[in-house]
Amino acid sequence: MTTFRAIRIDKTAAGTTAAFTDFDEAELMEGDVTLRVTHSSINYKDGLAITGKSPVVRRFPMIPGIDLAGIVETSGDPAFKPGDGVLLTGHGVGETHLGGYAQKARVPGGWLVPLPQGMSAARAMAIGTAGFTAMLCVMALERHGMTPAHGPVIVTGAAGGVGSVAVALLAKAGWHVMASTGRPAEAAYLRGLGAAEIIDRSELSAPGRPLGKERWAAGIDTVGSHTLANLLAQTKYAGAVAATGLAQGMDLPASVAPFILRSVALLGVDSVGCPRERRLEAWSRLARDLDKARLAEMTRTVAFENIIAEAGAILAGSVRGRVVVEIG
Ligand code: NDP
Repeated sequence: MTTFRAIRIDKTAAGTTAAFTDFDEAELMEGDVTLRVTHSSINYKDGLAITGKSPVVRRFPMIPGIDLAGIVETSGDPAFKPGDGVLLTGHGVGETHLGGYAQKARVPGGWLVPLPQGMSAARAMAIGTAGFTAMLCVMALERHGMTPAHGPVIVTGAAGGVGSVAVALLAKAGWHVMASTGRPAEAAYLRGLGAAEIIDRSELSAPGRPLGKERWAAGIDTVGSHTLANLLAQTKYAGAVAATGLAQGMDLPASVAPFILRSVALLGVDSVGCPRERRLEAWSRLARDLDKARLAEMTRTVAFENIIAEAGAILAGSVRGRVVVEIG
Protein backbone atom coordinates (compact mmCIF):
# COMPACT_ATOMS: atom_id res chain seq x y z
CA MET A 1 0.00 0.00 0.00
CA THR A 2 1.38 3.44 -0.94
CA THR A 3 0.29 6.26 1.32
CA PHE A 4 0.65 10.04 1.62
CA ARG A 5 0.01 12.53 4.44
CA ALA A 6 -3.38 14.23 4.34
CA ILE A 7 -6.10 15.69 6.50
CA ARG A 8 -9.11 13.40 6.45
CA ILE A 9 -12.68 14.39 7.33
CA ASP A 10 -15.00 11.58 8.39
CA LYS A 11 -18.67 11.64 9.25
CA THR A 12 -19.61 10.32 12.67
CA ALA A 13 -22.87 10.08 14.58
CA ALA A 14 -21.87 13.26 16.44
CA GLY A 15 -20.99 15.28 13.31
CA THR A 16 -17.64 15.30 11.50
CA THR A 17 -14.02 14.81 12.56
CA ALA A 18 -10.86 16.18 10.94
CA ALA A 19 -7.45 14.62 11.61
CA PHE A 20 -4.10 13.96 9.96
CA THR A 21 -3.77 10.51 8.45
CA ASP A 22 -1.74 8.35 6.06
CA PHE A 23 -4.13 8.23 3.10
CA ASP A 24 -4.06 5.23 0.77
CA GLU A 25 -3.17 6.29 -2.78
CA ALA A 26 -5.62 3.68 -4.09
CA GLU A 27 -8.43 5.73 -2.53
CA LEU A 28 -7.72 8.79 -4.73
CA MET A 29 -10.72 9.66 -6.89
CA GLU A 30 -11.06 9.58 -10.68
CA GLY A 31 -8.98 11.96 -12.79
CA ASP A 32 -6.38 11.79 -15.57
CA VAL A 33 -3.71 13.91 -13.85
CA THR A 34 -1.87 13.00 -10.64
CA LEU A 35 0.12 15.70 -8.90
CA ARG A 36 2.46 16.30 -6.03
CA VAL A 37 0.85 19.09 -4.04
CA THR A 38 3.43 21.62 -2.84
CA HIS A 39 1.16 24.44 -1.60
CA SER A 40 -2.42 25.08 -0.61
CA SER A 41 -4.20 27.91 1.19
CA ILE A 42 -6.87 28.57 3.80
CA ASN A 43 -10.19 30.04 2.76
CA TYR A 44 -13.37 30.69 4.73
CA LYS A 45 -14.93 27.57 3.20
CA ASP A 46 -12.01 25.44 4.45
CA GLY A 47 -12.79 26.72 7.93
CA LEU A 48 -16.39 25.58 7.51
CA ALA A 49 -15.28 22.15 6.22
CA ILE A 50 -12.72 21.42 8.95
CA THR A 51 -14.84 22.61 11.85
CA GLY A 52 -18.01 21.05 10.40
CA LYS A 53 -19.83 24.31 11.13
CA SER A 54 -21.60 24.22 7.79
CA PRO A 55 -22.23 21.18 5.55
CA VAL A 56 -19.87 22.13 2.72
CA VAL A 57 -18.38 18.61 2.58
CA ARG A 58 -20.67 16.33 0.63
CA ARG A 59 -18.58 13.15 0.29
CA PHE A 60 -16.86 11.07 2.99
CA PRO A 61 -14.10 10.44 3.61
CA MET A 62 -12.97 13.86 2.33
CA ILE A 63 -9.62 15.56 2.09
CA PRO A 64 -10.45 19.26 2.58
CA GLY A 65 -8.62 22.16 0.89
CA ILE A 66 -10.41 24.00 -1.92
CA ASP A 67 -7.11 25.25 -3.40
CA LEU A 68 -3.97 23.44 -4.48
CA ALA A 69 -0.83 24.04 -6.50
CA GLY A 70 1.89 21.59 -7.37
CA ILE A 71 3.78 19.61 -9.95
CA VAL A 72 2.32 17.10 -12.40
CA GLU A 73 3.60 13.55 -11.79
CA THR A 74 1.61 11.62 -14.40
CA SER A 75 -0.87 12.83 -16.99
CA GLY A 76 -3.27 11.22 -19.43
CA ASP A 77 -4.30 14.71 -20.57
CA PRO A 78 -2.22 15.89 -23.56
CA ALA A 79 -2.36 19.46 -22.18
CA PHE A 80 -0.10 18.50 -19.24
CA LYS A 81 3.16 16.57 -18.85
CA PRO A 82 5.21 15.47 -15.84
CA GLY A 83 7.02 18.43 -14.26
CA ASP A 84 4.43 21.04 -15.25
CA GLY A 85 3.49 23.56 -12.56
CA VAL A 86 -0.29 23.81 -12.12
CA LEU A 87 -2.92 25.31 -9.84
CA LEU A 88 -6.50 24.42 -9.07
CA THR A 89 -9.34 26.25 -7.33
CA GLY A 90 -13.00 25.32 -7.06
CA HIS A 91 -14.66 22.57 -9.13
CA GLY A 92 -15.85 21.04 -5.84
CA VAL A 93 -12.32 20.13 -4.74
CA GLY A 94 -12.35 19.81 -0.93
CA GLU A 95 -16.17 19.48 -1.04
CA THR A 96 -17.14 16.64 -3.40
CA HIS A 97 -13.68 15.70 -4.77
CA LEU A 98 -10.58 14.98 -2.61
CA GLY A 99 -8.81 18.30 -2.06
CA GLY A 100 -5.55 20.12 -1.44
CA TYR A 101 -4.63 19.38 2.19
CA ALA A 102 -2.59 16.38 1.06
CA GLN A 103 0.75 15.54 -0.49
CA LYS A 104 -1.00 14.10 -3.55
CA ALA A 105 -4.08 14.82 -5.66
CA ARG A 106 -5.71 13.22 -8.70
CA VAL A 107 -8.04 15.39 -10.76
CA PRO A 108 -9.43 15.79 -14.28
CA GLY A 109 -6.92 17.78 -16.38
CA GLY A 110 -9.71 20.12 -17.49
CA TRP A 111 -9.86 21.54 -13.97
CA LEU A 112 -6.19 22.54 -13.92
CA VAL A 113 -4.76 25.95 -14.81
CA PRO A 114 -1.09 26.09 -15.86
CA LEU A 115 0.83 28.36 -13.48
CA PRO A 116 0.96 31.72 -15.26
CA GLN A 117 4.39 32.71 -16.62
CA GLY A 118 6.66 33.72 -13.74
CA MET A 119 4.15 32.85 -11.00
CA SER A 120 5.38 30.41 -8.33
CA ALA A 121 3.09 27.85 -6.67
CA ALA A 122 3.45 29.82 -3.42
CA ARG A 123 2.27 33.05 -5.08
CA ALA A 124 -0.61 31.25 -6.81
CA MET A 125 -1.77 30.01 -3.41
CA ALA A 126 -1.29 33.43 -1.79
CA ILE A 127 -3.94 34.46 -4.33
CA GLY A 128 -5.95 31.21 -4.14
CA THR A 129 -9.74 31.05 -4.32
CA ALA A 130 -10.07 34.32 -2.38
CA GLY A 131 -7.89 36.34 -4.76
CA PHE A 132 -9.35 34.64 -7.82
CA THR A 133 -12.84 35.53 -6.58
CA ALA A 134 -11.80 39.13 -5.95
CA MET A 135 -10.64 39.33 -9.58
CA LEU A 136 -13.92 37.78 -10.81
CA CYS A 137 -15.76 40.53 -8.89
CA VAL A 138 -13.61 43.25 -10.47
CA MET A 139 -14.24 41.73 -13.91
CA ALA A 140 -18.02 41.59 -13.20
CA LEU A 141 -18.02 45.33 -12.40
CA GLU A 142 -16.01 46.02 -15.54
CA ARG A 143 -18.40 43.96 -17.72
CA HIS A 144 -21.17 46.13 -16.32
CA GLY A 145 -19.27 49.17 -17.61
CA MET A 146 -18.16 50.48 -14.21
CA THR A 147 -14.97 52.56 -14.16
CA PRO A 148 -13.23 54.74 -11.53
CA ALA A 149 -14.76 57.77 -13.30
CA HIS A 150 -18.20 56.75 -11.95
CA GLY A 151 -17.22 57.39 -8.32
CA PRO A 152 -15.92 55.48 -5.29
CA VAL A 153 -16.07 51.71 -4.80
CA ILE A 154 -16.74 50.04 -1.44
CA VAL A 155 -15.28 46.69 -0.35
CA THR A 156 -16.78 44.88 2.66
CA GLY A 157 -14.93 42.33 4.79
CA ALA A 158 -11.97 44.33 3.59
CA ALA A 159 -9.33 42.85 5.91
CA GLY A 160 -10.29 39.28 4.92
CA GLY A 161 -8.87 37.31 1.97
CA VAL A 162 -11.28 38.31 -0.82
CA GLY A 163 -11.49 41.84 0.59
CA SER A 164 -7.74 42.43 0.82
CA VAL A 165 -7.11 41.33 -2.77
CA ALA A 166 -10.12 43.35 -3.99
CA VAL A 167 -8.79 46.51 -2.28
CA ALA A 168 -5.34 46.04 -3.85
CA LEU A 169 -6.72 45.34 -7.35
CA LEU A 170 -9.21 48.23 -7.33
CA ALA A 171 -6.67 50.75 -5.98
CA LYS A 172 -4.16 49.73 -8.65
CA ALA A 173 -6.88 50.24 -11.30
CA GLY A 174 -7.36 53.82 -10.09
CA TRP A 175 -10.53 53.49 -7.99
CA HIS A 176 -11.15 55.54 -4.85
CA VAL A 177 -11.52 52.56 -2.51
CA MET A 178 -13.65 52.69 0.65
CA ALA A 179 -12.73 49.72 2.85
CA SER A 180 -15.33 48.51 5.34
CA THR A 181 -13.88 46.58 8.27
CA GLY A 182 -14.82 45.53 11.79
CA ARG A 183 -11.16 45.75 12.79
CA PRO A 184 -10.12 49.39 13.20
CA ALA A 185 -6.63 48.16 14.11
CA GLU A 186 -6.25 47.08 10.46
CA ALA A 187 -6.80 50.60 9.08
CA ALA A 188 -3.08 51.15 8.41
CA TYR A 189 -2.85 47.72 6.75
CA LEU A 190 -5.80 48.57 4.47
CA ARG A 191 -4.37 51.99 3.60
CA GLY A 192 -1.12 50.19 2.75
CA LEU A 193 -3.05 48.07 0.24
CA GLY A 194 -4.44 51.23 -1.35
CA ALA A 195 -7.67 52.03 0.54
CA ALA A 196 -8.46 55.76 0.51
CA GLU A 197 -11.13 55.63 3.27
CA ILE A 198 -11.92 53.26 6.11
CA ILE A 199 -15.53 52.62 7.17
CA ASP A 200 -16.51 50.88 10.40
CA ARG A 201 -18.58 47.86 9.42
CA SER A 202 -21.11 48.63 12.19
CA GLU A 203 -22.31 51.48 9.92
CA LEU A 204 -23.57 48.83 7.51
CA SER A 205 -24.38 45.71 9.52
CA ALA A 206 -27.68 46.72 11.16
CA PRO A 207 -31.11 46.84 9.45
CA GLY A 208 -31.30 49.99 7.29
CA ARG A 209 -33.68 51.99 5.10
CA PRO A 210 -34.72 50.80 1.60
CA LEU A 211 -32.83 53.80 0.12
CA GLY A 212 -30.14 56.00 1.63
CA LYS A 213 -27.77 58.76 0.60
CA GLU A 214 -25.87 57.79 -2.57
CA ARG A 215 -22.31 57.12 -1.35
CA TRP A 216 -20.55 54.81 -3.84
CA ALA A 217 -20.85 53.91 -7.51
CA ALA A 218 -19.80 50.28 -7.08
CA GLY A 219 -19.23 47.64 -4.44
CA ILE A 220 -17.70 44.24 -3.78
CA ASP A 221 -19.49 42.51 -0.93
CA THR A 222 -18.15 39.44 0.90
CA VAL A 223 -20.55 39.74 3.83
CA GLY A 224 -24.20 39.41 2.67
CA SER A 225 -27.23 39.98 4.93
CA HIS A 226 -27.97 43.57 6.16
CA THR A 227 -24.55 44.72 4.93
CA LEU A 228 -25.37 43.86 1.32
CA ALA A 229 -28.85 45.39 1.70
CA ASN A 230 -27.29 48.65 2.97
CA LEU A 231 -24.68 48.60 0.20
CA LEU A 232 -27.43 48.43 -2.42
CA ALA A 233 -29.46 51.14 -0.68
CA GLN A 234 -26.51 53.56 -0.77
CA THR A 235 -25.27 52.83 -4.30
CA LYS A 236 -25.41 55.73 -6.78
CA TYR A 237 -27.83 55.80 -9.72
CA ALA A 238 -26.93 53.07 -12.30
CA GLY A 239 -24.19 51.67 -10.09
CA ALA A 240 -23.48 47.99 -9.41
CA VAL A 241 -22.57 45.70 -6.53
CA ALA A 242 -20.83 42.35 -6.99
CA ALA A 243 -21.97 39.93 -4.26
CA THR A 244 -19.85 36.91 -3.45
CA GLY A 245 -19.89 36.11 0.27
CA LEU A 246 -21.91 35.49 3.41
CA ALA A 247 -19.62 36.25 6.38
CA GLN A 248 -22.50 38.07 8.12
CA GLY A 249 -25.28 35.83 6.79
CA MET A 250 -26.85 34.14 3.80
CA ASP A 251 -30.02 36.23 4.01
CA LEU A 252 -30.66 39.38 2.00
CA PRO A 253 -33.16 41.55 3.88
CA ALA A 254 -33.38 44.19 1.12
CA SER A 255 -36.12 45.93 -0.86
CA VAL A 256 -36.44 46.34 -4.63
CA ALA A 257 -36.13 50.14 -4.25
CA PRO A 258 -32.46 50.41 -5.38
CA PHE A 259 -33.25 48.32 -8.49
CA ILE A 260 -36.46 50.02 -9.60
CA LEU A 261 -35.75 53.60 -8.50
CA ARG A 262 -31.99 53.86 -9.09
CA SER A 263 -31.27 51.19 -11.73
CA VAL A 264 -28.72 49.63 -9.38
CA ALA A 265 -27.49 46.19 -10.49
CA LEU A 266 -26.72 43.24 -8.24
CA LEU A 267 -24.08 41.03 -9.87
CA GLY A 268 -23.67 37.50 -8.48
CA VAL A 269 -20.16 36.05 -8.48
CA ASP A 270 -19.35 32.35 -8.01
CA SER A 271 -15.80 31.04 -8.30
CA VAL A 272 -16.41 27.28 -8.06
CA GLY A 273 -18.16 26.67 -11.38
CA CYS A 274 -16.58 29.60 -13.23
CA PRO A 275 -16.20 28.66 -16.94
CA ARG A 276 -12.65 27.82 -18.09
CA GLU A 277 -12.21 30.76 -20.47
CA ARG A 278 -13.06 33.30 -17.76
CA ARG A 279 -10.90 31.36 -15.26
CA LEU A 280 -7.84 31.63 -17.54
CA GLU A 281 -8.54 35.32 -18.15
CA ALA A 282 -8.78 35.99 -14.40
CA TRP A 283 -5.48 34.23 -13.68
CA SER A 284 -3.68 36.10 -16.43
CA ARG A 285 -5.11 39.39 -15.09
CA LEU A 286 -3.97 38.44 -11.56
CA ALA A 287 -0.45 37.72 -12.83
CA ARG A 288 -0.42 41.14 -14.50
CA ASP A 289 -2.40 43.43 -12.20
CA LEU A 290 -1.89 42.26 -8.61
CA ASP A 291 1.08 44.07 -7.14
CA LYS A 292 3.57 41.49 -5.79
CA ALA A 293 4.63 43.61 -2.82
CA ARG A 294 1.02 44.20 -1.76
CA LEU A 295 0.25 40.50 -2.09
CA ALA A 296 3.29 39.71 0.08
CA GLU A 297 2.08 42.25 2.65
CA MET A 298 -1.27 40.49 3.02
CA THR A 299 0.14 36.94 3.09
CA ARG A 300 1.32 34.68 5.90
CA THR A 301 2.71 31.17 5.41
CA VAL A 302 1.95 28.29 7.76
CA ALA A 303 3.13 24.68 7.94
CA PHE A 304 0.89 21.77 6.94
CA GLU A 305 0.61 20.74 10.62
CA ASN A 306 -1.05 24.09 11.54
CA ILE A 307 -4.05 23.94 9.19
CA ILE A 308 -6.57 22.73 11.74
CA ALA A 309 -5.85 25.57 14.18
CA GLU A 310 -5.94 28.17 11.37
CA ALA A 311 -9.32 26.85 10.17
CA GLY A 312 -10.89 27.85 13.49
CA ALA A 313 -9.26 31.28 13.36
CA ILE A 314 -10.65 32.15 9.90
CA LEU A 315 -14.21 31.49 11.05
CA ALA A 316 -13.60 33.68 14.10
CA GLY A 317 -12.79 36.53 11.66
CA SER A 318 -9.32 36.93 13.13
CA VAL A 319 -7.28 36.04 10.05
CA ARG A 320 -5.92 39.02 8.12
CA GLY A 321 -5.52 38.72 4.36
CA ARG A 322 -4.32 35.39 3.02
CA VAL A 323 -2.77 32.26 4.53
CA VAL A 324 -0.59 29.98 2.38
CA VAL A 325 0.02 26.39 3.47
CA GLU A 326 3.38 24.81 2.69
CA ILE A 327 2.61 21.16 2.12
CA GLY A 328 6.30 20.42 1.64
P1 NDP B 1 -12.19 35.79 5.37
O1 NDP B 1 -12.59 35.16 6.65
O2 NDP B 1 -10.75 35.92 5.04
O3 NDP B 1 -12.85 37.23 5.27
C1 NDP B 1 -14.15 37.51 5.70
C2 NDP B 1 -14.18 38.88 6.33
O4 NDP B 1 -15.53 39.25 6.56
C3 NDP B 1 -13.52 38.95 7.71
O5 NDP B 1 -12.14 39.10 7.62
C4 NDP B 1 -14.20 40.18 8.28
O6 NDP B 1 -13.58 41.32 7.71
C5 NDP B 1 -15.61 40.10 7.70
N1 NDP B 1 -16.57 39.50 8.63
C6 NDP B 1 -16.44 38.36 9.36
N2 NDP B 1 -17.52 38.14 10.10
C7 NDP B 1 -18.37 39.17 9.86
C8 NDP B 1 -19.66 39.52 10.34
N3 NDP B 1 -20.31 38.76 11.23
N4 NDP B 1 -20.22 40.64 9.88
C9 NDP B 1 -19.59 41.43 8.98
N5 NDP B 1 -18.36 41.15 8.49
C10 NDP B 1 -17.77 40.03 8.93
O7 NDP B 1 -12.93 34.95 4.24
P2 NDP B 1 -12.71 34.99 2.64
O8 NDP B 1 -12.22 36.32 2.25
O9 NDP B 1 -12.00 33.77 2.23
O10 NDP B 1 -14.22 34.83 2.15
C11 NDP B 1 -15.14 35.91 2.36
C12 NDP B 1 -16.54 35.45 2.03
O11 NDP B 1 -16.64 35.21 0.64
C13 NDP B 1 -16.98 34.17 2.73
O12 NDP B 1 -18.34 34.26 3.06
C14 NDP B 1 -16.76 33.12 1.67
O13 NDP B 1 -17.57 31.99 1.86
C15 NDP B 1 -17.11 33.89 0.42
N6 NDP B 1 -16.48 33.39 -0.78
C16 NDP B 1 -17.29 33.07 -1.82
C17 NDP B 1 -16.77 32.59 -2.99
C18 NDP B 1 -17.67 32.29 -4.13
O14 NDP B 1 -17.26 31.60 -5.05
N7 NDP B 1 -18.89 32.80 -4.12
C19 NDP B 1 -15.33 32.36 -3.13
C20 NDP B 1 -14.53 32.81 -2.01
C21 NDP B 1 -15.12 33.28 -0.86
P3 NDP B 1 -13.27 42.64 8.56
O15 NDP B 1 -12.58 42.15 9.80
O16 NDP B 1 -12.44 43.48 7.68
O17 NDP B 1 -14.61 43.25 8.87
